[in-house]
Amino acid sequence: MASGPFRKILIANRGEIALRVICACKDLGIPTVAVYSEADRYSLPVRFADQAICIGPAKSSRSYLDIPSIISAAEISNVDAIHPGYGFLSENAGFAEVCQVSGIKFIGPKPEVIAAMGIKERARAIMKEHGVPILPGSEGVLSSAEEAIETAERIGYPVILKASAGGGGRGMRVVNSADELPGLLAQAQQEAGAAFASADVYLEKYIAAPRHIEFQILADEHGNVEILGERECSIQRRHQKLLEESPSPALRPEVRERVISKLRAAIRAIGYSNAGTVEFLMDEKGDLYFIEVNARIQVEHPVTEAVTGIDLVKSQIRIAAGEKLSDVLPGPVQFRGHAIECRINAENPQTFAPSPGRITGLNLPGGIGIRVDTHAYQDGVIPPYYDSLVAKLIAYGSDRMEAIDRMKRALDLFVVEGIHTSIPLHKRIMNEPDFVAGNFDTNFIKRWM
Ligand code: ADP
Repeated sequence: MASGPFRKILIANRGEIALRVICACKDLGIPTVAVYSEADRYSLPVRFADQAICIGPAKSSRSYLDIPSIISAAEISNVDAIHPGYGFLSENAGFAEVCQVSGIKFIGPKPEVIAAMGIKERARAIMKEHGVPILPGSEGVLSSAEEAIETAERIGYPVILKASAGGGGRGMRVVNSADELPGLLAQAQQEAGAAFASADVYLEKYIAAPRHIEFQILADEHGNVEILGERECSIQRRHQKLLEESPSPALRPEVRERVISKLRAAIRAIGYSNAGTVEFLMDEKGDLYFIEVNARIQVEHPVTEAVTGIDLVKSQIRIAAGEKLSDVLPGPVQFRGHAIECRINAENPQTFAPSPGRITGLNLPGGIGIRVDTHAYQDGVIPPYYDSLVAKLIAYGSDRMEAIDRMKRALDLFVVEGIHTSIPLHKRIMNEPDFVAGNFDTNFIKRWM
């Protein structure tokens, strides 16, 4: 494209996703502005953006979450759009609204849609209304322990308490019987209140050995919706994803088709636009139940890019500029091969304790079928203030076995010295017969530890 859909884009994020957005902007010929905290002064997004503006100290609340500082940076640098990445302000409806009133395009869904999807028990009700299957649970937020016990008795134990504004696996409690419910409800409410803006908690049926399956959505601002297949993210630790793949080795084609047709109608009815992910749990019978919508680009988006050949971040930008999906996409969506992503975190592979610090030695793997998205470099520092993601290693193959073989090879060639990483853990997973056979659920890692 000769001239981009925007004049200049500010990236309200850091780390690998900030670099990923810079790459998409470079491909589109759009100049970029990086904003950074004092801890990220020597980071790659700062180096590779066309312009960089310091927005505050290391603490996120005073930099990457500081809306006035980010808007000032946007105004000073005269950008006409902001890409929020994932995390930080990406699902903050207030931020999307401030952008809108400041005349800056927020690259994501409309503020009111972000707000509705951010209240998980409301998103549940909306999906149910449009025929998307949900797990049996409470009608909205729980108002008392008595109501919780009544609901749990109706659907049967075990149940799970979940924070309405939840994220990152916080504010969740599994409940096995009525006598432990009041205590766990109080705990969940307290944890939710401390971590999020709201202490609201709802309840749903607990699936003991679920698989996590999610669908990638792209929707334009003219009511057109595409569903770019699924990702399986069942390899988790503490309800957080470690490894993702597409397609799922477990999803039955007829279940996929049924859910996709309901989902397409629901997404259109909601007025959803831009990229998004709809998450489901699969029960032991292989059926899917909606759990939540993530109204942003996700960490694991490259596996979908690998099997569809579609650049999701570039698509987000062009959709935000008002382009139609039929112009943004290269043609009918087609799926080819298999892709796996390993999250390389700076953490102890046994305890999962964070392991920030200076990278004293680094070798990034490459070769056929390998992609590495990272902001890491030799002598660079992984600061302790933010999430521990160092790199995403994506392996693509003509089938799942070829993707696994390439991933093993890439993990062998991936060297990070000076900090601990999850590389040894991923090597172990790749050699685990149950993983290779596609036979696992969200308890896979827990069973080992
Ligand atoms: P968060 O927004 O905090 O990430 P999610 O609703 O996405 O919360 O759930 C995160 C993970 O928690 C799921 O991938 C799954 O492992 C577990 N989980 C959530 N709901 C249930 C449930 N009803 N039954 C069993 N596990 C669940």
